[in-house]
Amino acid sequence: MSDTTVTTEQPARTALSDEVARRRTFAIISHPDAGKTTLTEKLLLFGGAINLAGQVKAKGERRNTRSDWMKIERERGISVVTSVMTFEFEGLVFNLLDTPGHEDFSEDTYRTLTAVDSAVMVIDAAKGIEARTRKLFEVCRLRDIPIITFINKMDRESRDTFDLLDEIEKTLALDTTPMTWPVGRGRDFIGTYDVRDGGVRLLEGGGAKTGAAQQIAISELGKLNANLDIGQITDELELVKEACKPFELDAFREGHLTPVYFGSALRNFGVGDLLEGLGRYAPSPRAQESNLRKVDAAEPRMSAFVFKIQANMDPNHRDRIAFARLCSGKLNRGMKAKLVRTGKTMPLSSPQFFFAQDRSVADEAFAGDVVGIPNHGSLRIGDTLTEGEDLTFVGVPSFAPEIVRRVRLTDAMKAKKLKEALQQMSEEGVVQVFRPRDGAPALVGVVGPLQLDVLKARLDAEYSLPVEFEVSEFSLARWISCDDKKKLEAFIASNNSGVADDVDGDPVFLAKNEFYLGYTKERAEGIVFSNVKDVK
Ligand code: GDP
Repeated sequence: MSDTTVTTEQPARTALSDEVARRRTFAIISHPDAGKTTLTEKLLLFGGAINLAGQVKAKGERRNTRSDWMKIERERGISVVTSVMTFEFEGLVFNLLDTPGHEDFSEDTYRTLTAVDSAVMVIDAAKGIEARTRKLFEVCRLRDIPIITFINKMDRESRDTFDLLDEIEKTLALDTTPMTWPVGRGRDFIGTYDVRDGGVRLLEGGGAKTGAAQQIAISELGKLNANLDIGQITDELELVKEACKPFELDAFREGHLTPVYFGSALRNFGVGDLLEGLGRYAPSPRAQESNLRKVDAAEPRMSAFVFKIQANMDPNHRDRIAFARLCSGKLNRGMKAKLVRTGKTMPLSSPQFFFAQDRSVADEAFAGDVVGIPNHGSLRIGDTLTEGEDLTFVGVPSFAPEIVRRVRLTDAMKAKKLKEALQQMSEEGVVQVFRPRDGAPALVGVVGPLQLDVLKARLDAEYSLPVEFEVSEFSLARWISCDDKKKLEAFIASNNSGVADDVDGDPVFLAKNEFYLGYTKERAEGIVFSNVKDVK
């Protein structure tokens, strides 16, 4: 018997690369009430995490028993936490990162989107693109995150389907490819037509996860519902085939094209198609940019970045949980990691791995997964952990606040302490702090009001600093920069009372309103006003 040498051009498949390839880490972006919670429940049902379905909203209840979770969260019965839900379906591992959306909307919602490889955009069929969806989409676009669209609530009166697609294309500058097409509308919605293979999946009985699309001739659909206008349906489907762009994987992966699915999360209809689309088209963990090089997910050495910090409100237990996304390799419980910012080594003795059911202690996690790392304040947002290499991941930017407030101390003697505390809170990413150049008291900026409540509670609990927030004359903040340093200095000098320093000492222009901002921009040639600041 002779030796045979097998040569291959492909990178060798390893256990690690197989684990990476079967992961899909994603988030749902939507406007409140579009159906994110309902869809989340149904997705988890597919993954077999049935005991959680119906409970996603009852977070307050579930967590009452967890003494280590935030007090505010317990009181309000909402989640301050960007929770991570992991479920398996057909051999794939899905990590769904929750994006806080209602009262708990915050900068964490934006930051979470820096830790995913794709996003599902849920749109209410009666409403189309709404403000919050648009904003979250813009954050996704910063990193060209591929978007899969789910048009929800098709069981109710909806807007014209072509109009909805047109709106996505025009307002988001995103091409659309309908993968399914609704048959009938509102009360007469009977299911969806599969644009690729021509089958019809029926709402009644066909919506379950095993319900395959049936090959029903369009002309036969009238038998199912006499109200359907078969001529119109035929014309519509002709138009879909002729006028809509075919699906192109590359365009989707680059963030230029979105496949569109129609359904009803409430009726668990279309959710299976969506999940199948995620599995088939959404990318597995992507290579991540660092200051030194691109880091491939299947590289054997572990690397991760922190995108969220959850602080414990209990004054006796000031521990924190840092949520880290693994960018490469495999994390084992007990391994040591280098915190690149400080150069120090830290043991990862009890990382928490997130299963749909609960938090639990992890033994191992792979690139694309999210782990919770308990610490006492050593980890910050944007921190990189590696197995020794001195690289730093880029990609957890700061976002311009939507609410700006002045902090008022009830005890003026504690001004110095407040300054230190605010510095700490802004380094942790609780709020952004802006120090006006003219020496006026500090301003804090947030994207959601809950962040102010968290700041107030933490200043009180951790620093014994009772504070109030006052409406300030400013409502908008933009980072300013210019290639010509002198020009920037001249701008700052002539707008001194409207310029502040952020936590890193970078200049920020504060404006009373959009009109004033626009007015100033027009007259400040060469100055760039940005609503995002990338981490250096
Ligand atoms: P979220 O705010 O985006 O998390 O939205 P929810 O999932 O809480 O849904 C908001 C409301 O819309 C709830 O009353 C849901 O029952 C309802 N809803 C969600 N999906 C559907 C759907 O497909 N059809 C109908 N008719 N109602 C839905």
